[in-house]
Amino acid sequence: MEKLIITVAPTGSLPTKKVTPHVPITPEEIVRTAVACEAAGAAVIHIHARNPVDESPSTDFAIFEEIYLGIKAKTRLITQISTGGRAGMGYEARNERLRLKPEMASLTTGSVNFPNSVYENSPQLIEALAADMKRLSIKPEMEIFDTSMISNASALVSKGLAAPPLHFDFVMGLKGAIPATIENIVHLKNTIPPDATWTVAGVGPTQLSMNTHALLMGGHVRVGLEDNIYFSKGELTTNERLVERVVGLAGILGREIATPDEAREIMHL
Ligand code: ZN
Repeated sequence: MEKLIITVAPTGSLPTKKVTPHVPITPEEIVRTAVACEAAGAAVIHIHARNPVDESPSTDFAIFEEIYLGIKAKTRLITQISTGGRAGMGYEARNERLRLKPEMASLTTGSVNFPNSVYENSPQLIEALAADMKRLSIKPEMEIFDTSMISNASALVSKGLAAPPLHFDFVMGLKGAIPATIENIVHLKNTIPPDATWTVAGVGPTQLSMNTHALLMGGHVRVGLEDNIYFSKGELTTNERLVERVVGLAGILGREIATPDEAREIMHL
């Protein structure tokens, strides 16, 4: 079986220091987390920026740049910048960060009803972001919150806006998106193109079970406080501890861990 690529999503848009003291918010904290997670076995880091003052999601290019340059200087990790945005953030607010030319960027190929808001990704926005990534040689990670988003991703290939082999991340178990079940992983895996690579991110308490299924099925995994802040019920965790746990599981189940350079080969970066 292919070596296991571990992606860490350490920050996201939601958790604050009040919710968990372990979430890295400032560029310095995020870079320190990157170093620790690389040492623990991660190959990819999925990056969000926050306003240092109130911890709200930020679209500030300078903050993304500080995080990106810090991680590049101190690790070999593949940097994957999120192009996600909260309600009201348009194309201009979400594409500027691509100027940094990270190796990867996330691209959500459809809209989702989050518990209290709409995560809006219009066909025009998706195509514009895909075109930017293609022009800048950034590999998109197709963020799949529902099966229909797979066909939307494949349509980008037909339109010449993305190049195969595609890489997918199945975001499962979020209220309003596809439920976190084995049957759904099998279905998603069977729906993507045969040459595509895939990662599974389980939200909240589903992270561990979804990671384990993916590990056994030959997929890759995403962990991190963006998706889940607990190690077990009621016990908060750090990002590096979540990476270490997956490395331990992979060892027990006989799956080797991909270094960042091996991950580059597997995903054709
Ligand atoms: Zn994200």
